Amino acid sequence: MDFSLLEEIKKTNPNNLMAKYFSKDYYLSLSFTDQKRFEKIIASGVQNPNSQMGAYAMNANDYKDFTPFFDQLIRNYHGIKENIKIEQIHDWDFSDISCDLAAIDEELKTVSMRVRVARNISDFPLPGAMSKQQRLDFETLAIKAFVKLGTYKGFSGKYLSITPNSPFEISAKEYLRRVEKHQMFKDMSNDAYLNSAGISNDWSHGRGMYITRSEDFIVWVGEEDHLRIMCMQKGGDLGAMFEKLHKGLEILGNILPEFANSKTYGNLTSCPSNLGAGMRASLHMFLPNITNNGTNLTQLKDEAKKLGLAVRGAGGEHSDAGSDGLVDISPNARLGVSEKEIMLRLYNGVKDLWKIEKSL
Ligand code: ADP
Ligand code: MG
Repeated sequence: MDFSLLEEIKKTNPNNLMAKYFSKDYYLSLSFTDQKRFEKIIASGVQNPNSQMGAYAMNANDYKDFTPFFDQLIRNYHGIKENIKIEQIHDWDFSDISCDLAAIDEELKTVSMRVRVARNISDFPLPGAMSKQQRLDFETLAIKAFVKLGTYKGFSGKYLSITPNSPFEISAKEYLRRVEKHQMFKDMSNDAYLNSAGISNDWSHGRGMYITRSEDFIVWVGEEDHLRIMCMQKGGDLGAMFEKLHKGLEILGNILPEFANSKTYGNLTSCPSNLGAGMRASLHMFLPNITNNGTNLTQLKDEAKKLGLAVRGAGGEHSDAGSDGLVDISPNARLGVSEKEIMLRLYNGVKDLWKIEKSL
């Protein structure tokens, strides 16, 4: 372990949370085996000093085994003070609220809405520590679950694999088409952060996605978490979309082995930023005025931050806005907030953002 390198990253990259909370004393207090485990957890942040988080769990129990380290990163990222107990609550009951974007403006009916949750299966290591065989075995297990999922009304569909020689394999062209439609995940093999964490190892083995015939319910297999389960719709009715996600999630939860979960941190995920509800709900919106036709996101980011929202480009994380001003808006919070609260935050935040956009 190169302690001086960590000291340097701490100084040059104060936003790298791994480096910020790395403690030589803590590292030295670990057994030799745990020191090796810990080195894998922090590898991405060490090799990529400009990381924001800089650490990925390799196994769901890493959060328990390395709590003194992880708890600090988690509290910092999710904005939870030291004296406050972390507890993940779940609430999928939307019966008493309406979050229809059309009530803000009819124009918002055309907005593309997406909500996804990250889930991992307790029986397998997290993606950063999976062997090639485990990736393939996991895909086989998922495919079996999709066969059952397909028997439920509204959930019939097909599995598209990018595992070389899989019976479900799609062509490279079809894969790209699905990426461009925002249905399939991007090629992870060129992602420096995921490479250092081992998450993109053995690309593209054990990877694929299930998509319903209606194309509004999708499950990614083998991206940053074992499963990313999502619903994508238009029409403005956030509640209807969340309901569909919940329904599909419940079906899958009953078919699949137990999801990795803790009372404190909720759903356990590779990246500590996704703990809790594991949920990111986003809108792809045209905001040409506040972004000066996509050329400057500063004002939008400032306003969004005040509303608890994050801004991404329409190509996903680390992408920029297009010249048409199409951006991805989503609530920041995932841990300590319920699913219902996330939907409300998105709705209320967008309501305020839209007012600003229209006043410019
Ligand atoms: P996440 O980490 O939540 O899965 P990413 O930023 O990695 O999200 O994006 C994954 C894909 O989902 C990208 O293709 C992105 O453009 C797409 N996406 C995100 N939100 C929406 C949305 N509201 N409508 C359509 N596509 C979306
Ligand atoms: Mg992502």
